[in-house]
Amino acid sequence: MNPAKRSCDYPMLTVDEAWQRIASALKPLPPVCKPLAEIPGLMLAEDIVARDSMPPFAAASMDGYAVISGDSSSERTVTGEQDAGIDLDLAVTWGTAVRIMTGAPLPTGADAVIPFENTSEEAGVVRLLASAKPGANVRPAGQDITAGETVLSCGSELGPAEIGLLASLGYNRAWVHPRPRVAILATGDELVSVDATLRPGQIRDSNTPALLAAAKSCGFDAFTLPHPIGDNASALEQAVVTSLSGCDMLVTSGGVSMGTRDLVKPLLAKLGEILVGRVAIKPGKPLTFALVQGKPVFGLAGFPVSSLVGFEQFVRPALRLLAGQRLLWRPCVEVRLTQDLRHDPERTEFQRAVVETAPGGYWARGNGPQGSGRLKSLAGANALLILPVGMGDFPAGSRVMASLINRPETLEDLPICHPGKSNATLGKETVRLSL
Ligand code: AMP
Ligand code: MG
Repeated sequence: MNPAKRSCDYPMLTVDEAWQRIASALKPLPPVCKPLAEIPGLMLAEDIVARDSMPPFAAASMDGYAVISGDSSSERTVTGEQDAGIDLDLAVTWGTAVRIMTGAPLPTGADAVIPFENTSEEAGVVRLLASAKPGANVRPAGQDITAGETVLSCGSELGPAEIGLLASLGYNRAWVHPRPRVAILATGDELVSVDATLRPGQIRDSNTPALLAAAKSCGFDAFTLPHPIGDNASALEQAVVTSLSGCDMLVTSGGVSMGTRDLVKPLLAKLGEILVGRVAIKPGKPLTFALVQGKPVFGLAGFPVSSLVGFEQFVRPALRLLAGQRLLWRPCVEVRLTQDLRHDPERTEFQRAVVETAPGGYWARGNGPQGSGRLKSLAGANALLILPVGMGDFPAGSRVMASLINRPETLEDLPICHPGKSNATLGKETVRLSL
């Protein structure tokens, strides 16, 4: 009699089903009010309304002479000088002019500024070598912004210009979604830290530094415990509970498969609820997502490529959701293959590749052998080729979608180019980029 096949308690989900379950369990972290120096790259959690107009007063936009434009006399008596930073309450009348510097308030009566380069001044009289139209070289009050206007809306990403705007309007703090803190936890009896001497049977823990780097490259704060955790139920439980207490999301690697020492899934089921227990992907099929104490936990498969690809495809967009980001997905382009690719039609496969521009579009070649332990396949790769479920091998010249993993996210909401969609749909939405 054949021994019974071991079964897994969790249904095999498609990429889209898994992502739907993950996304619907997440919402942006509650807003906090932070000083301007701490908000670059964060998402605004309020509308910003201008308290003042910008500029707040009519001001010269060049150094020169404030004049009445309708005055046709070519010589004017200079009655004073108006510098920036103070309002001397000067006035310009017919036949007179006021020397004025860029940014200074326009004297009463003046409606234009003639630049110094079009004038000459001697003994208190300025000769004007050019005429001026009304409003020339003057920034009227409220030209940029009017008081009461909504200048930035909730959900905007705060870059240098947005932060400059906040400062110009007198906001020294703003309500933002905080940067998620990510805890990384590597598990496995065979793991030792990078600086330890290897004993027979041991390997260096490469996932912790790789996943810390992945989290930091999203712009988020990441930390880990001093050492990897062995495959021991109580040590693992203690490490998970400790890590969870200081983070917004926990990401573990290893211990999610079917082995007798794979203890992460049972622990997450004991402490919380597993929403995703298996996904039809290659690499990284045992990818797990759970909520524990209300916090999201990803259990990534231990193979180095599986954990980084799982991070790229699921953890990174989930972190961006926590951060209140709307753009969740990397740009995808349609590429042609320079070589044959083998593909298991049962799973969505993410093959590590190099995409290059060439006459007629983008071309992709695999970045070396694709085993899930072969980290070299990711080093130097700029794309993950998405080989969809339901399709077999791809001969050279075939068209497939490629997610450009070195490019910032450009797509909102459910990915147009997400691997769960069919190739036909994807092709229409291709984003053109130069690589
Ligand atoms: P697991 O998912 O625990 O079954 O591990 C799968 C494979 O990945 C095994 O060959 C492990 O030795 C390897 N592995 C697990 N965790 C790590 C890690 N942190 N760094 C490098 N390799 C790992
Ligand atoms: Mg293991």
